[in-house]
Amino acid sequence: MQFQTYLDYKATSTGHLVEYEDPRDTSRTCLKCGKKMACTTQIFTCTHFGYSIDRQVQAPINIAEKYLKKKLTQWEEYKDVASSVPAERQLIKMVLGDLREFRDLIVRDVSQLDRRYTFISIVAT
Ligand SMILES: [Zn+2]
Repeated sequence: MQFQTYLDYKATSTGHLVEYEDPRDTSRTCLKCGKKMACTTQIFTCTHFGYSIDRQVQAPINIAEKYLKKKLTQWEEYKDVASSVPAERQLIKMVLGDLREFRDLIVRDVSQLDRRYTFISIVAT
């Protein structure tokens, strides 16, 4: 909460707006398949693909995607409003596309890390 107050203060003083997104379920929503699953440990494991990732890595990517999808939907709903800026929609789409590429990279790298750890454990034995 102290960080939030500081962030609001700094952003406002520099003319920026801070928007918040509900983080509910974002640490237990699979980056690979998008399904929500029960998880009580730090490491999330998808029961469909066996893919595992730290929830602290998974959550912020899901929060960012949730926020951008919401902004895009809001833009679509209110696109006739005079204050809407068409360039904003393009920017949101571009950032969402970049985020999805980043997400896919994380998913692929985590899979490769799993393979590397398997290789190292085979070599070590
Ligand atoms: Zn999954």
